[in-house]
Amino acid sequence: MFSLANQVAVITGAASGIGAATAKRFASAGADLVLAAYSPDGHDVDAVRAAVTRAGRRVHVVETDVSDTADVEALVGTALSEFGRVDIALANAAIARRKASTALGDEEWNRTLDIDLTGVWRVFRAALRPMTEAGYGRLLATTSTAGAFEAWEEHAHYSAAKAGILGMVRSLAAEVGPRGITVNAVAPGIITTPQTLDSVNSLGADGIAHTGVSQPVRRVGQPDDIAAAYHYLASPDASFVTGHVLLVDGGRMLMRG
Ligand code: NAD
Repeated sequence: MFSLANQVAVITGAASGIGAATAKRFASAGADLVLAAYSPDGHDVDAVRAAVTRAGRRVHVVETDVSDTADVEALVGTALSEFGRVDIALANAAIARRKASTALGDEEWNRTLDIDLTGVWRVFRAALRPMTEAGYGRLLATTSTAGAFEAWEEHAHYSAAKAGILGMVRSLAAEVGPRGITVNAVAPGIITTPQTLDSVNSLGADGIAHTGVSQPVRRVGQPDDIAAAYHYLASPDASFVTGHVLLVDGGRMLMRG
């Protein structure tokens, strides 16, 4: 079920958290992978690479800053030069920096939008050309409950980017559906990853524990909870799902009215 056999996937933010879990899941389902790593963050992409290899799949790691168009073109270009195709593109990389709005200057606003929103667009645009030629594709992006479904104070820039992904996904889905390409997003709730464990910019470990006990499912999410959603949306079985934002939050939004 939901086989990705003989498919090629490109994933950004693949060295940690949700991206790393999704890379492993896609490999187990039969996909070959091109993984974007961003070394300034110091995540161990070699562990992800080794897991993909152990699953018997081929993998290339490409150093990529998603705010750099040439980097993203080279990332997708690697899928084409090494594997001859790109079936799935998951634009997952993002930053979330806490900043009171009175102190949020142009530089930090623009940097966040450049990574979290335009970074998604760069991945989609690069993958659209080969997908259009092939007449098949799965474009996927990680949005958030924040911005898309709820407020996150002192994260106006991040929330604006995540809300922007919804408009991009819906409009693009209408445009490229006739070419056999679907476009979808996943909105994670609270997931235990480096982003959320950062107590300066997000909940931190204590905040995660506190949140977990109040959610309908009585836990916070793990990266594989999101990887499972991507596994379905990336598969040929999801060909009738497009322009959709899949909320994967353990029921968190139910408790917010
Ligand atoms: P994470 O911090 O582990 O992952 C973010 C990844 O993006 C990292 O691998 C990082 O190196 C990469 N990255 C950052 N800047 C980059 C750049 N300029 N170029 C390329 N890569 C860059 O945290 P995560 O939770 O796994 O985040 C994955 C996605 O999930 C993000 O889009 C995040 O906003 C979203 N999200 C997470 C949660 C959560 O609770 N963890 C909730 C909602 C949405």
